Amino acid sequence: MTNHEHERATDLIARHGVDDIAATDVSWLESHLSQCRECAEYAGAFEQTGNFLRSLAVTAGPALVTSTQARVRARAEQLREQQARMVLVTVSFCIGVLFSTASAWLWWKLGGWVVQQLGLPESIVGPGVLLFWLLPAIVIAVLMVTVPHTVLSHPLLLSLTGEHEGEIR
Ligand SMILES: [Zn+2]
Repeated sequence: MTNHEHERATDLIARHGVDDIAATDVSWLESHLSQCRECAEYAGAFEQTGNFLRSLAVTAGPALVTSTQARVRARAEQLREQQARMVLVTVSFCIGVLFSTASAWLWWKLGGWVVQQLGLPESIVGPGVLLFWLLPAIVIAVLMVTVPHTVLSHPLLLSLTGEHEGEIR
């Protein structure tokens, strides 16, 4: 048997099941394998490797496992950040209501005096209450929108959301 024949056999083994191989090539390969122990062993090993790779593809390779884990972790972090943001919004809302009430109350008490001192028309005292009601809320809303990612991953904030962690895992 020539080297060329073994080469032809290994080539056909590699292409078998992947490419369309002519019936004459298949029957030539079968007759070669029945005579050549070396190529028959190669064909067996090749078949086993193929099965091994196929089983890997089904049970998920290490790269797929790693990337899936990374994706799950990223999703968990995203959910935690959303919860942290919700806590921040709730706390800010309470603080906002407090400040709004305080500043509106202050303006209500002192607005008339301030307007008088600054020589402004009395008619702005009324709308002024509304302005002082809204101002803290607007400031906090702007702060909320611009709050950086790092603040949300602050340990203090994360500990506030800690009791919900069971839900996201
Ligand atoms: Zn051979």
